[in-house]
Amino acid sequence: MKTASKAVLQNPVIEVSSKGAARLRDGHVWVYRSDVKEPRRKPAPGSLVTVVDHKGHVLGPAFYGTSSQIAIRMLSNSRDELSADELIFEIGLRVAGAISYRDEVVSNTDACRLIFSEADFLPGLIVDRYNDVLTMQVLTQAMDRDDIRQAVLSSLREHFPQATIVERVLDHIRELEALPKKRSGVLSKPEKGPAKTSTTFTMNGLRFLYEAVDGQKTGAFLDQRENYVAAANYARGDALDIFTYEGGFALHLARKCRHVTGIDISLPALEIAEENAKLNTLELDWLEANAFDYLRDQAVGGPVYDTIVLDPPAFAKTRKNVETAVRGYKELNLRALKMLRSGGILVTCSCSFHLSETEFLDVLASAAVDAHRRVRILEKRNAAKDHPVLIGVPETNYLKCVICQVD
Ligand code: SAH
Repeated sequence: MKTASKAVLQNPVIEVSSKGAARLRDGHVWVYRSDVKEPRRKPAPGSLVTVVDHKGHVLGPAFYGTSSQIAIRMLSNSRDELSADELIFEIGLRVAGAISYRDEVVSNTDACRLIFSEADFLPGLIVDRYNDVLTMQVLTQAMDRDDIRQAVLSSLREHFPQATIVERVLDHIRELEALPKKRSGVLSKPEKGPAKTSTTFTMNGLRFLYEAVDGQKTGAFLDQRENYVAAANYARGDALDIFTYEGGFALHLARKCRHVTGIDISLPALEIAEENAKLNTLELDWLEANAFDYLRDQAVGGPVYDTIVLDPPAFAKTRKNVETAVRGYKELNLRALKMLRSGGILVTCSCSFHLSETEFLDVLASAAVDAHRRVRILEKRNAAKDHPVLIGVPETNYLKCVICQVD
């Protein structure tokens, strides 16, 4: 086993506490700053470092961040150091690997997540494909380095020569990572023809608008792609899609149901939803409303729907607000259950990582008791396969989608 003697290791060495080392040995890839022995001479933001335990045993190469709470993001658990050149080569290989994984597991669409950060061994990088527009999100200092950006871009260009690559800047992340402010914009033009930042993409035979930078940003919750199909398999009759955004579930349901209403608090999102409906010559109703108010007012009317989808934003952003989140999920599910006719279908989702599947099912159980309804689970689902779950990194497994039949 190599040790941290200066003669052996070339990269800056970062020592982690025994708690940090144990976490890595359990398969996680992050070490929090509190578990890092900060070296006297701090490596530059985003440096390639070699992580060692308190005995000097090498745990693997990693990216080092100087600002966020996650100080170390492992690149592998190999005991060999990565050189700067090998790193760049490795990044290219990993991008290619992520793309070929999608070739295997994604079908029926020209939109998917191409790179999902840790789950594709590229911590801090997200790339989504919407037909001929690729969007890149940089979440860490390391991924913001020029040499690494260039390696990512050249590998993406090789695989998608006709795509425009657009950076979507997340201001709060750049602040958290102490990175200079930046604007969203085109990073790479197609080989032939002008750059484009808006397009249409196809998912499960439906078309959707996409606009990467200008005006009202549009997009899609790509992680729900397979759940849309699953939900539509059971859906029927009169349907509600609550938290519809730009109509993801609603449009899929509209091919099966007598009548569908999509509800959202955001009027701009609903305007895109209506454009999406037109693009597919589907007729739906859209309602701008606060879901909580709407359900409170409507639930007293008794069971009048056959299918209800609940796909709220993450209520539990941290472990601390799980309790409040539970109250929110309970209220929504309780009222939705009351509004379903006998034999009705409830598709209920949570994208809060901090609320586990068990906790979510407990919420559902308690809502069922209070609503005096018998609920049977038809399917317990997660994110689509282009959002892989990395064993040992529970944060990659965040989406729950439970499809139930309600008596
Ligand atoms: N189901 C959608 C994604 C939903 S994202 C899809 O598959 O594409 C969450 C949505 O909830 C956002 O569009 C947001 O505008 C909406 N939202 C947030 N709070 C809300 C509230 N209190 N009432 C209604 N909609 C809300």
